[in-house]
Amino acid sequence: MKITDVRTMLLRGPRMHNVGGGEGIATKLIIQVDTDAGLYGLGEADDFMGVREAIAYIREAVVGRDPLEIGPMVSEMLYGTLPPHPPGSRRDTPRSSHAFRPVLMCSPTATPTGPIVWGMSGVEIALCDLAGKICQTPVYNLLGGKYRDRVRVYLDRSSPDDVSNLDAWKRMGLQVVEDGFSHMKFDIDFAAPDYTEDVWNRSISLSHMNQIIERLSAVRQAVGWNIEICVDGHMHFNGTTAIQLAQELAPLKLTWFEDPTPITNPDSCADVRAKSPIPICVGEMFIAEHFRLFIDSHACDIIHPDVMFCGGLHEARKIADYAELNHMPMAMHGNGGSLATIAAAHVAAASRNFLGLEYHWIESTWIGEYVRREGMPLFTDGYITLPDTPGLGVELNRDVCERYLAPGEKML
Ligand SMILES: [Mg+2]
Repeated sequence: MKITDVRTMLLRGPRMHNVGGGEGIATKLIIQVDTDAGLYGLGEADDFMGVREAIAYIREAVVGRDPLEIGPMVSEMLYGTLPPHPPGSRRDTPRSSHAFRPVLMCSPTATPTGPIVWGMSGVEIALCDLAGKICQTPVYNLLGGKYRDRVRVYLDRSSPDDVSNLDAWKRMGLQVVEDGFSHMKFDIDFAAPDYTEDVWNRSISLSHMNQIIERLSAVRQAVGWNIEICVDGHMHFNGTTAIQLAQELAPLKLTWFEDPTPITNPDSCADVRAKSPIPICVGEMFIAEHFRLFIDSHACDIIHPDVMFCGGLHEARKIADYAELNHMPMAMHGNGGSLATIAAAHVAAASRNFLGLEYHWIESTWIGEYVRREGMPLFTDGYITLPDTPGLGVELNRDVCERYLAPGEKML
């Protein structure tokens, strides 16, 4: 069996509750890998700058190859090979009209992160779906087998539209619990933007800190002490502020403080971690090597890979295992739509140290509906249940895809 094509389709629609509240736009990039046997696999990538160009490059590298050689194809794209390069590698003979310049001794971009990795992550998800269909087994079996039948989901709520209204915070927390979730996350950088005095210096004033504490305390008071709450710092704070925030928020028994400082420096993150009573969670844009660096530097308590950014499902499993060897739990970042989230759920099912998988779009239902399963909802009561259907176990919901097809795009 040979790969015959790698195609994409962009969806575009409203994001009803954007970061920090308010309405925004969401775009979702669906990938299909076709074969000469008629079987195909579905994947999803984030529509970041350069990703569609990267997927066009990857298409040149994988068309004509065996779809089951997932590891070699991903490794070649992320890390490169020595000359004379793998049989079937076509980076030295570009076959299309694209003006791609091959880089023969290393990854196509000469960096193991960025658009080529984000594009390859989505293609790898599609290859896993395809491999599961070829082998007639669920993807979690390709990843080592499942530890659990259902995967716990945590809901990211960012913050209410009116952050100064404590009742709005309480209502938001209670609504999450009513919707069946027992684990929720808020964006701490958006918890009190009405008190921001300087948007540049990574510090917050005492009044700003007090408002953050008051608002998150309102959520804790509303939902009680048996619901897990975590906060995301979006890599904004300096070490001093991050440590102060962590110490002041400690009485709320938060499950984690995510990305407290810029993630370019594991040493400063290790310093925050050493002084933080709240577990530190990092890694939503990391590849495996970044995780090794942060884990080895004692810079985190919980890892947080994203299957759309780390190189795909097998790389995520590798990352999970490295954390597990250090007895460290793995939460999973999820900024994608329903397809990427189901794909991540297969990794979650097959990883011993899994903690929770992020879900983002409770008010933007279309994002959770562009793939479907026959006779089985994707999400139930804060969990994703994975049946024994081959591959990822989902198919495109063509009605939803047609409704949200971006201008100029063709249906897969
Ligand atoms: Mg985050």
